[in-house]
Amino acid sequence: MEDCIFCRIGRGKIPSHKIYEDKNSFAFLDIHPHAKGHAVVIPKIHAVTIFDLEEKQMQPLMLAVKKTMGLLQKKLQPDGFNVGWNSGAAGGQVVPHLHIHILPRYNGDGGGSIHSIIKNPREKDVEEVAKLFR
Ligand code: 5GP
Ligand code: ZN
Repeated sequence: MEDCIFCRIGRGKIPSHKIYEDKNSFAFLDIHPHAKGHAVVIPKIHAVTIFDLEEKQMQPLMLAVKKTMGLLQKKLQPDGFNVGWNSGAAGGQVVPHLHIHILPRYNGDGGGSIHSIIKNPREKDVEEVAKLFR
């Protein structure tokens, strides 16, 4: 998409600090990093959320995530990672082109786990939700 910032980054029309690239995917350093080596991985094809991405494009994207993590591991030697994405406005997604955040983690860096994003359940939630899948 012409006016999508991440489509333009993926095509090299907007400069970025590239970490990894292949036919389908592009990984670059986040401009406002939350950790040393904070990177984002995008599919080159425009998709706002995962629901817009064809199934056959999932595997290459996950492979690019693994390759990018491997490069970060090699160059920065973090002690761990958090990997995930903000999906939809309620999930905190700002840029409307699917992007997987890779946050290298270092012992004693003061950050939390994925569980620290939200803790707002109701008491009966697990049972109610489980019923929907029976
Ligand atoms: P979101 O909240 O949509 O999951 O995160 C979007 C991320 O993209 C943010 O962490 C933001 O810093 C990053 N970002 C937004 N615009 C640019 C840009 O032009 N270049 C780079 N490298 N990162 C960007
Ligand atoms: Zn796009």
